[in-house]
Amino acid sequence: MTKERGNWLDTSHPETRAIRSGVKRTPEGEHSEPIFTTSSFVFESAEDAAAKFIGQDGANVYSRYTNPTVRMLEQRLAALEQGEAAVATASGMAAILSVCMAFLQTGDRVVCSRDVFGSTIGLFQNYMSKFGVEVCFVPLTDMDAWEREVKPGTKLVFCESPSNPLCEVADLAKLAAVTHRVGAKLVVDNCFCTPALQIPLTLGADIVIHSATKYLDGQGRVLGGAAVGSAEDMAAITAFVRTCGPAMSPFNAWVVLKGLETLFLRMEAHSSNAQKLAEWLLLRPQVVRVHYSGLPDHQGHSLACSQQRHFGGVLSFELEGGREAAWRFINGTELMSLTANLGDVKTTVVHPATTTHGRLSEQQRNEAGITEGLIRIAVGLEHIDDLRKDCDRGFAAL
Ligand SMILES: *Cc1c(COP(=O)(O)O)cnc(C)c1O
Repeated sequence: MTKERGNWLDTSHPETRAIRSGVKRTPEGEHSEPIFTTSSFVFESAEDAAAKFIGQDGANVYSRYTNPTVRMLEQRLAALEQGEAAVATASGMAAILSVCMAFLQTGDRVVCSRDVFGSTIGLFQNYMSKFGVEVCFVPLTDMDAWEREVKPGTKLVFCESPSNPLCEVADLAKLAAVTHRVGAKLVVDNCFCTPALQIPLTLGADIVIHSATKYLDGQGRVLGGAAVGSAEDMAAITAFVRTCGPAMSPFNAWVVLKGLETLFLRMEAHSSNAQKLAEWLLLRPQVVRVHYSGLPDHQGHSLACSQQRHFGGVLSFELEGGREAAWRFINGTELMSLTANLGDVKTTVVHPATTTHGRLSEQQRNEAGITEGLIRIAVGLEHIDDLRKDCDRGFAAL
C-alpha cells in the first residue's frame, strides 16, 4: 500500500484529520478508501504464513483479527479522539461489553452514572452481575455520590456526558481525579458529542466509547462501535475482540469512514439547529421547561462551555398535561421521524417515559427526571423553519 505524501497529518487540524487520517492507498491508486470484503488473506509461502500467524502484530490473517478497511477507521478515530489506538466493534454495545470483558473480573466494582443508555444499564445489571461484578449507579452531576461510591475495589467508572435526554453535564476532569484516586479507569461514552465537540481523553478519561451507529456514521445506515485509549488498554480489548468475535464488518467500517469526513460540518449544523429550536421552544406557552445545555440557565451550561465545542443535537422539553399531551404532540407532527434512534441527519422525536426509559419503574423515572410530559428531539439537518412548523403541528394537536 502507498502512503500519503509528507508528514503534515500529525500537526493538522482535527477537521483535516477527520478526512485524511488512516488513509492507506493500494497500488491501484484509488482516491476513496477501498472496502476489503474478504474474510481471510493469502500468504506468499508457508514461511510467510507462519510468521504472520505467530509474530507480526497487525499482519493480515483473518478479518476477525484485522481488516485494512477496519484498521483505517481505527486509525482515524484514534487521531480524532487523541488516543494512541482504537478498536472498532460490531456495535456500541459490543464496545462496552469488550471493555468489561477486558478489565473486569469477579469481585470487581463498577460505578456508573444513572442516566446512561438503557442497554448499558442492562449489560451491567443483568450480565456483569452474573459473574460477581458489583454495580452501583449514581446521579451524573452528584460529585459527593461519586466520591462516596468510587471506593477501593472499583475497576471501572462509567459515564455519559451530556446525559440523555436531559442534557446534564458531568465535570469530566473532576470525575477522572476521583476515579484515579482508587486506581480505576474512567470510561466515557462520547456518543452524544463525538470528538468534534468533546475529547474526554484530554480531560483525564482513560477510555472513550462510541456507538458509531449514531453521529459517527450520522446517516442511520449501519451499526458500529469503538473504544479509544492507550495502546496498552486497546491491546487488552483487541485480544478479547479477536478471540470472542464482536468485530466490525469492513463494509460498516467504510460507511463510518465516509461519515467521519463530514463529522465536523454535521455536528456544527446539528448544534446550531438544536440551539435555534431550543430557544424557540422556550417561548411556546405550552412548554413548561426546555432541557438543552446551550441555554444559559441550564444546569450544565458553564461546564459545557468549558469542555465542549458546541452543545450537540439532542434536546428535550416538557409539556403541561403529562403523557396525553406528549402523545398528542408527537402524533400531530408529520416531518420528524417517530423513532428512538438519534444522531441522524433526519430529525427524530420520541416519548422517553414510554419508550427508551419505559423499562424503569415510575420511581426510577421520577428520580431521573423523566416526566410523563417529556419529549426528546434529536435535531437533524432539515431547515429550521420546517422543524418549527412541524412542532407547530404538534402544538396544534394539543
Ligand atoms: C445507541 C447508544 C449505545 C449503543 O450503541 P449500539 O450501536 O446501538 O449498540 C451506547 N451508548 C449510547 C449513548 C447510545 O446512544
